[in-house]
Amino acid sequence: MSHPLSDRINSLPTSQTLAMAAKARELRAEGKDIIGLSLGEPDFNTPDFIKEAAIEAINQDYNSYTPVDGYLELKEAICTKFKRDNNLTYSPNQIVVSTGAKQSIANVMQALLNPGDEVLLPCPYWVSYSAIATLCEATSVEIPSSIENNFKISPAQLEAAITPKTKLILFNSPNNPSGTIYSEEEYRELAKVLEKYPQIFVLSDEIYEHINYDATPFSFAALPSMYNRTITVNGLAKAFAMTGWRIGYIGAPDWIAKACTKMQGQITSGTNCIAQRAAITAVLAPVAKIQYMVNEFKTRRDIVIDLLNEIEGFNVNVPEGAFYVFPDISAYFGKELQGVTINNASDFAMYLLEHANVATVTGDAFGAPNCIRISYAASEENIREAIKRIKEAVS
Ligand code: GLU
Repeated sequence: MSHPLSDRINSLPTSQTLAMAAKARELRAEGKDIIGLSLGEPDFNTPDFIKEAAIEAINQDYNSYTPVDGYLELKEAICTKFKRDNNLTYSPNQIVVSTGAKQSIANVMQALLNPGDEVLLPCPYWVSYSAIATLCEATSVEIPSSIENNFKISPAQLEAAITPKTKLILFNSPNNPSGTIYSEEEYRELAKVLEKYPQIFVLSDEIYEHINYDATPFSFAALPSMYNRTITVNGLAKAFAMTGWRIGYIGAPDWIAKACTKMQGQITSGTNCIAQRAAITAVLAPVAKIQYMVNEFKTRRDIVIDLLNEIEGFNVNVPEGAFYVFPDISAYFGKELQGVTINNASDFAMYLLEHANVATVTGDAFGAPNCIRISYAASEENIREAIKRIKEAVS
């Protein structure tokens, strides 16, 4: 029976990252020994110094509604962080704190996009970008890339994708799902194209900023010609192991920040008071305090790459950041594995779930249909066991 839902919700795809995690949970509840490498969620606990700040906030009776755009002390701390880490000068009226970077992104897109506007998505892109564009009745325009060029787009590709309807482009470096990091020079070249089209805004999603190994991420807004039309998105989930605390934020031109505050004021109000107080401590902490997690992710990345390279049919590059590998597995398309025909990446991810008991995410969800995403935000033991199972299942 079909229910009388709105066209809006009917046209919205389910988040594939969350759906795969839910499916893994469900199978585990049925007694199956599933190893989850689908979700981008650090397996560390939130560091004690941040937990203590939250406990102190509870004891100090922070219980009331918060300002819609966030506590002033937190916005000031975020300005300090932007200056320290990104060489970006923002004042508190340019900052909006939200319930996770996902809400920050949704606010910005709802504030800027009209029906029919085009949103450029360099592939691969995080699953929710295109879904939020759909909610805004905007059109997603994918700019393809491949493992051969390290999942980067070129200035010529960018220019070719621009039309009079282009309103926004989303950059994400370090990238989810590929781990790719754009250098300052590469961003400069892309910005040269955008300089010719002043109607285009840039959303730079820098949520994986601190999780980098071989290259230093660069903030798009640090290019002077781009500052006035770039919205910098960041948050605490990944680097501080605070996924459930739901703290994201933007630095943006003040009129965009104001519009996001208006949007948020009608939908969720200011985000959680305790999480915000703890966030002040987190953003002001020296990055060295979280380096132990980054070091561990790097060790795991190297293990994953070595092990995947031993499997025939897996074409793997070396991600420079985030905690995902994004192998091209198109060598399996058209083949039969244990009686199952693999026609695409979704078939392959499903095959791994059913025959290897390992949860991954299909590249289709990220605009890269030749790949699957494997998250290595999991214990070394689980990673080794999962890849052993994958190897056996595809041999
Ligand atoms: N961003 C994480 C991921 O890509 C968490 C899940 C989500 O919100 O998509 O796995």
